[in-house]
Amino acid sequence: MSKDKAFVTEITPQSEDFSRWYIDVIKKAELMDYSPVRGCIVFRPEGYELWENIQRDLDRRFKETGHRNAYFPLFIPESFFQKEQEHVEGFNPELPFVTEAGGEPLEEKLAIRPTSETMFGHMYAKWINSYRDLPMLINQWANVVRWEKRTLPFLRTSEFLWQEGHTAHEDEADARRETMQMLDVYTEFVENVLAIPVIRGQKTPSERFAGAVDTYSIEAMMKDGRAVQAGTSHYLGTKFAVAFDIKYLDRENTQQYCHTTSWGVSTRLIGALIMVHGDDRGLVMPPKVAPTQVVMIPIGPPKTREVVIGKTDELFSQLKAAGVRVRVDDRADVSPGWKFNEYEMRGIPLRLELGPRDIENGQCVLVSRVTGEKKSVPLDNIVAEVQAMLEQIHGEMFERAKRFREENFFSVETLDEFKSALEEKRGFALAGWCGSDACEAQVKTETGATSRNIPFEPAETKTKCLVCGEASQHTVVFARAY
Ligand code: AMP
Repeated sequence: MSKDKAFVTEITPQSEDFSRWYIDVIKKAELMDYSPVRGCIVFRPEGYELWENIQRDLDRRFKETGHRNAYFPLFIPESFFQKEQEHVEGFNPELPFVTEAGGEPLEEKLAIRPTSETMFGHMYAKWINSYRDLPMLINQWANVVRWEKRTLPFLRTSEFLWQEGHTAHEDEADARRETMQMLDVYTEFVENVLAIPVIRGQKTPSERFAGAVDTYSIEAMMKDGRAVQAGTSHYLGTKFAVAFDIKYLDRENTQQYCHTTSWGVSTRLIGALIMVHGDDRGLVMPPKVAPTQVVMIPIGPPKTREVVIGKTDELFSQLKAAGVRVRVDDRADVSPGWKFNEYEMRGIPLRLELGPRDIENGQCVLVSRVTGEKKSVPLDNIVAEVQAMLEQIHGEMFERAKRFREENFFSVETLDEFKSALEEKRGFALAGWCGSDACEAQVKTETGATSRNIPFEPAETKTKCLVCGEASQHTVVFARAY
């Protein structure tokens, strides 16, 4: 077997075992490693840089919509969690506590934050006095801990990195506007930056965030047909305002409770982009967040090396100056074929090959990671050519993912139909639901699929509940999920 072939066979094919493919790829591409603590991972530089790029683009969007960043503490007194009943019930099973410090038991146990509605609530009660203080629009970038039973790198870890936005408003209308605005921000980001098409909709009551009045989500389909909840935005009504006494004097000088929201996306997005775009050769990074967008590989016999390297350096400087994330691999002891495989495995969207004959002709070759398309382009227009091809790759990735989702989306009338569909196929099902928790629970018990959301724009409207056959209240997307 050739060296190049051996390289690819180290990755389990997706069709053989998708989970093993996922672990093979993220480890081989050096995105993460396991830590000795259960469910916690180390973000290696390549994985962390992906997160930094996600962060940078999202952060700009948050600021453009009027939010400011702050930082709240990691520890939250246990009593804070007792103030909002649904919140405590939802989060209690996942809360780790610090009970002792400096060799002495603590007077009050301190939770390690799983989310910070309570701490924001406590502080907002102090900071908000009048309608003039509203809306209060704060985001934080932080780590949180939820002691998850089942974990999978990036997608579900015990400690994860995320942002959590917490806002307080004068009335329901303003808070609901915020909730939807942030769902729009997430949608725009995930589709236009990560090239992942999403389904926007409302969560059913059983899938709601603990303590929310309404939860909205964006849901994405992975290449094995499973769903990932890529982001959530919650309208919290006055529940946390009542629990934490977040009140303001309105324009008529009467005390009112604020209406609050919260919204978050996490390092789960990294897992999602890998599972949506990756293939049997390895990762495929969306160009807009790829730590390296272009890898330049000089080729040709040793006697031409000096000339080729000289031209490569020149092109490198031009691309870098234009803001392209570019690197050069000019190692002389590694064959070009080996390098091609290596960077394909690492998912670098674009490869630039440059040899002596190319230089004579005033051109180089660009190769797309997604389609394998090779294109000779003039050197004197290299920046524009590279930028155009990166844009094209983004578009192709989005369209591919969308086509895959359409091909694996089915419509069912009954639970039996759903069960037999899942035996043959993978993917999402659109079905009617009467609105009862019992019917929803039965779908889960019999298929392992959960309601993902009630889509805002379903392809069709279902009239009967898939379980009981009664009139449906909602058309729901069901899927097995990560
Ligand atoms: P939530 O606060 O539950 O609405 O979650 C906010 C965001 O964090 C959502 O996008 C979730 O999908 C994501 N998330 C929740 N739990 C985890 C976890 N254990 N690991 C990674 N991401 C998570």
